[in-house]
Amino acid sequence: MPNSIVFKMDDPAELKAIAGFHEAYRSHCSASKINHVKFLGPEDRFSFTCQRTNTCCRNFSDGERIILDPYDVLRLSRKKGITTGKFMSKYATLTLDNETHIPIALLNYSGREHKNKCHFLRSYGCSVYQDRPLRCRLYPLGRLSSRDKTFYMLINNCPCGDKLSSNEWTVSDWLSESECKSYLEFENVSNGILEDCDMEIYKALSPEIKLEFGRMLYDIDRLINSFDRETHPTGNQEIMTCLKRWAEEFLAANGCLKDHEASPQPVEVCSLP
Ligand code: SF4
Ligand code: SF4
Repeated sequence: MPNSIVFKMDDPAELKAIAGFHEAYRSHCSASKINHVKFLGPEDRFSFTCQRTNTCCRNFSDGERIILDPYDVLRLSRKKGITTGKFMSKYATLTLDNETHIPIALLNYSGREHKNKCHFLRSYGCSVYQDRPLRCRLYPLGRLSSRDKTFYMLINNCPCGDKLSSNEWTVSDWLSESECKSYLEFENVSNGILEDCDMEIYKALSPEIKLEFGRMLYDIDRLINSFDRETHPTGNQEIMTCLKRWAEEFLAANGCLKDHEASPQPVEVCSLP
C-alpha cells in the first residue's frame, strides 16, 4: 500500500504552520513502514478495538523502540521500586535525536531469543499496565505537540487491530480512557523547556553536554535529592516546576536559553550532586 497522509483537522493550514512537518513525517512513516496515517483533531472519531494479543509489545528493533518521557521514567521507576537513575541504567538507553540532538530515552527490549519483546511483557500481559508509558497508552494514536499545538495521528498499521467489530472513539475519549492526563501535563512542561531553547546554539554544544542535559531531565530523583529533605518537591506540580527551573538554569548557563543573556563561559553541568 502506498504511503499516504490524510488531513482531517478543521484547519489543515494549522499543520502547515510547522515548517517541513508534513514531508518530515511522510519520510518518517516511509522509513518506519507505517503505511497509512490520518491526522485527527480532539473530536475526530476513529474505530478501534484492541485484540489484547500484545503483538505491539514484541518485535522491537534498534530502529524501532518506545521513546520514554521523563514522567514515564518517574512512574515506571516507582512501580519497580527503584530510583529514576537506576531505572535509566537498567531499562533504558539515553541517546540524542539524530535531527534535533534533543536527548531521548529509549526503552530497552529483551533480545532475539525473546522475540525482541518489551522487558515488562509477561505471559499475562503488561506487568506495568497502570504505569505504562505514554506511547503505549496512546496507541494506535501517535502524537506530535508543541507548547500550543497538538496533532494526533491514527496509525492504521496496528498489527492485529480488528477492523470489523470495532468500538468508535473520539480522540478526547481515548485520552481519557487511557488515563493520559498527568502524562500530557508533564509533556507540555518538557515541550515548553525545549521551545525556550535556542536550537542553533544548543546544537553546537558537545554531545557530552547534551547527554548531561538528558540525564538531568530523566533522572528526576537526582533533582528531588538536590533539595534538603524537608523541602523535597512532592507531587507532580512541584516536581514539574522544579524540573523546568532546573533545565532553564542549565540552558542559560550554556548560553542557549532564549531571551536570556548567554553566560560568558558555558558550563558542563548544573550545580547538582
Ligand atoms: S497490536 Fe493493536 S490490537 Fe494488537 S494488542 Fe497491540 S494495540 Fe491491541
Ligand atoms: S510497557 Fe507494557 S504496554 Fe508498553 S510495550 Fe511494554 S509490555 Fe507493552
